[in-house]
Amino acid sequence: MTTSTSPTSSSSPLAERLAAVRAGIDDAARAVGRSPAELTTIVVTKFHPASLVRELAALGVRDVGENRHQEAQEKSAELTDLELTWHFVGQLQSKKARQARRYASVIHSIDRFSLVDALRSDESDVDAFVQLNLTDDPARGGVADRDLEPLVEHVLDTPGLRLLGVMAVAPLDEEPARAFERVRASSDRVRALAPEAAAISAGMSQDYREAIAAGATHLRIGTAITGNRPGVG
Ligand SMILES: *Cc1c(COP(=O)(O)O)cnc(C)c1O
Repeated sequence: MTTSTSPTSSSSPLAERLAAVRAGIDDAARAVGRSPAELTTIVVTKFHPASLVRELAALGVRDVGENRHQEAQEKSAELTDLELTWHFVGQLQSKKARQARRYASVIHSIDRFSLVDALRSDESDVDAFVQLNLTDDPARGGVADRDLEPLVEHVLDTPGLRLLGVMAVAPLDEEPARAFERVRASSDRVRALAPEAAAISAGMSQDYREAIAAGATHLRIGTAITGNRPGVG
């Protein structure tokens, strides 16, 4: 990619990390015979100030992700001039759902009927992923495996939501490659109900290569690009 090697953009540590991740994504895609052009890289900027998002935009980033409603709302309001695509990737309270629709173009964390109902709209569509819970812990967010089809059917029946596919976070105690094979199997089940909902949002800083190998289309990458989150270490 020409942007990753241009002298101006390689001058900051942020630019260098972005270029390194872009190169890593390209390599991982080619290694499994996929085109990097099929992949959307979302830079997850949670905990970082709006100024960092602005720097990323200057480096060519178009898709950014946030996981807390209030922070996302504030940053997106401050950066409307950049015309970025905001992805909401965190757990979303039903009572905040309508507000999140206003700035988020894509919501990756649809995991229950009440949230689907709260996102209903007869005026506009928002892109949506159904989030899978790959653990046995309901607090992790995501729909339990046995509830996948009913939730997908409810999304498909609800005006205002355009189902793109499935989203997941690999559990800490499982090999990512194994976890992402499970995601792929769930994606097949979703496509049996909605053939066009073929996208897979999976892969973070530590496991995006495995996710690409398993068919991920949307990567959500934070620290490998942004550096450590302030106050989080
Ligand atoms: C923070 C976050 C990411 C990015 O994680 P990194 O390990 O920093 O790449 C991706 N997805 C979700 C849902 C997140 O909350």
